[in-house]
Amino acid sequence: MKHSTTKQSGILHLASGIQNMISYNEALKITQKAFKSLNLQTEEFDLLDSVGRILGEDIYSDINLPPFDNSAMDGIAIKMNPSIKKWKVIGEIPAGKFSEFEIDEESAVNIMTGSMLPPGCDTVIPIEDIDADDHQAELKDGVRFVEGMNVRSQGQDLEKGKIALEKNTRLQSHHIAVAASCGKTSVQVYKPLKIGILATGDELVDIDEKPQVDKIRCSNLYSLLAAVKGMGMEPVNLGIARDDKKLIYDRMKNALENKIDILITTGGVSVGKYDYVKEIHEKLGINIQFHGVFIKPGKPTLFGTYEKNGHTTLVFGLPGNPVSSLVNFILYIQQNVDELLGSSDLKRFTGVLMDDLSKKDGKRHFMRGIYTYNDKNGTFQVRKMGSQSSGNLAEMGKSNCLIIIEEERRNPRKGEHVECIMI
Ligand code: AMP
Ligand code: MG
Repeated sequence: MKHSTTKQSGILHLASGIQNMISYNEALKITQKAFKSLNLQTEEFDLLDSVGRILGEDIYSDINLPPFDNSAMDGIAIKMNPSIKKWKVIGEIPAGKFSEFEIDEESAVNIMTGSMLPPGCDTVIPIEDIDADDHQAELKDGVRFVEGMNVRSQGQDLEKGKIALEKNTRLQSHHIAVAASCGKTSVQVYKPLKIGILATGDELVDIDEKPQVDKIRCSNLYSLLAAVKGMGMEPVNLGIARDDKKLIYDRMKNALENKIDILITTGGVSVGKYDYVKEIHEKLGINIQFHGVFIKPGKPTLFGTYEKNGHTTLVFGLPGNPVSSLVNFILYIQQNVDELLGSSDLKRFTGVLMDDLSKKDGKRHFMRGIYTYNDKNGTFQVRKMGSQSSGNLAEMGKSNCLIIIEEERRNPRKGEHVECIMI
């Protein structure tokens, strides 16, 4: 269908089809504001079970790290005097077994990595730099030694009471290591948001069925449930509903009554004869905040909020086209949750185009592309996928990024910079 557009006060009016389309930035702003009204809660989790979750508290160190001055090497512990290069060995300190040796400038103790330094010691000389027997040690010829070398001093990594891990960190093994060294057996993590997906369409069959002539497999349900899972949120599978007003209404109502945080439908949101989703939103009392965004893919996206008994549900009506639904999920849901929780999971980068691109309209395009890192000049090179059809899932399956072509940009040329999102 052809549309003619005029621009008035930031709203794009279309002669036919979806009315009152807004720009992507405007749509993003509206959703950002709404995401802030979500009720974020935290829960206590055993440290090991918290991996992959988002930290809901700052973690402070309850001790100095390291807890005592210790050796960074296997070697001898000495009290530095630059003119003394031969020492009497008076004992040894294995890791975890501190013995009280007082050393002076002429004596040394054998020490192991991690062992506590004996009183008087300020320097450790590595074993490979000395000639030694059980009773004495001597610096090898030509070896430089300086005061303080190979000593890890108490609290040098982290002082007691200082912040060790910041709230909103997506916990990975290296964070668990830090929390463990701070003695945290359990941590506060954000409760996952409950995100429900309902696929609508008469043509849909579930994936365990072989579709008959006029049917297709319902991929959206799985792509979006997987995306929710990938974010560490709680996916709620609301199944497939035929294009039947009552059926869709009942499924949505039921989800809203179950205090879901985000309710997403796919399909039926455009202006076709059987596109009932907007009408159902209105009937359910959802406060529709926009319907139609000047982007590609995802023009018919609808967004509203639903309030009941102090609980807010954000409601997205995403288009049925499999590429549109997933791209718009990334743009609105993933991006906003990421921002809300500060988890910085969505990775953006500036790429260099490897081909000329062409864009014939003033919409913001999110093209599927492939990036590769060029380690010779330290740039990300990007190529768009051959097909940009919003129905072409197979091409999306081969891509690893979205290339953003802003509204005013028409034909970016090879070599130009483009903003991209990794997917
Ligand atoms: P609609 O937004 O309902 O007009 O659907 C647009 C296109 O997306 C149609 O070609 C549908 O067959 C397809 N489609 C809709 N829902 C799904 C789904 N859940 N999985 C895969 N394709 C879908
Ligand atoms: Mg449909």
